[in-house]
Amino acid sequence: MKKLASELYDLLQIIAPSGKEERVVHYIKPKMEKWLDHVWIDHYGNLLGERQYGTGTGPTILLSAHMDSVDGVEPDREVLREGDIYYSSAGILGADDRAGMAIVMAVIRNLGATAFNGKLKVAFTREEEIGRRGSQALDMAWLHDVEVAIVVDRRGNRDIVTSFADVQPFCHPSVGQFFEEAGRMCGMPDWKAVRGGISDACTFASYGINSVNLSAGYQYEHTWDEFVSITSCKETVQLILAVLDLAGKRGVGFVNQAQV
Ligand SMILES: [Zn+2]
Repeated sequence: MKKLASELYDLLQIIAPSGKEERVVHYIKPKMEKWLDHVWIDHYGNLLGERQYGTGTGPTILLSAHMDSVDGVEPDREVLREGDIYYSSAGILGADDRAGMAIVMAVIRNLGATAFNGKLKVAFTREEEIGRRGSQALDMAWLHDVEVAIVVDRRGNRDIVTSFADVQPFCHPSVGQFFEEAGRMCGMPDWKAVRGGISDACTFASYGINSVNLSAGYQYEHTWDEFVSITSCKETVQLILAVLDLAGKRGVGFVNQAQV
């Protein structure tokens, strides 16, 4: 997973506030094309892709992160590294949600080595920070067969967000338990289902798709104190690979088979 750190660094260099995501698309689209069967930009400017693994008879999973950052990236700032941490010399870092994108890309590169044998769909969305406009513009017909939507846009590490506060559940409780089980199986038993804030998971859940929002390794997002831990990013990649491996082994309907 060496590439994750350098790709995250590249993504952090790109200034792309809400509505101006084109430079992120320009950077990441050719990399997606290397690994996915189809990559395209939808009518709203969301960057989408999909790939079938193995027989393709397993579950369909959506991986998603948002391409925009909030305003506040200083044009002349430097992205600095200390140990496994990236931070900004001034202003916000913008790892919310470039870290989520780097994690999704690392999953794509490593998924072929797992038992996953379904279809992977990838959605890098626009304008999450100004009201989830990109995810709300996605074609619902494209999402109809998605069994679980995995959004990677939560601060910190080891959080499996399964609801927006106590306002909107994102999924059946068995889905959070399935992710916790995958965490235990890959040596990270402290991944826990928790309540969280607003993310594109709110959108996918509103379509009736079982959804979660996973930690992306950044902290203090939207402030000058923001930083991101490369180690935490890699741990999220490992969790998602474990989830998809287990989903491949259990097959379609796996979300209903979680063991408590
Ligand atoms: Zn975010």
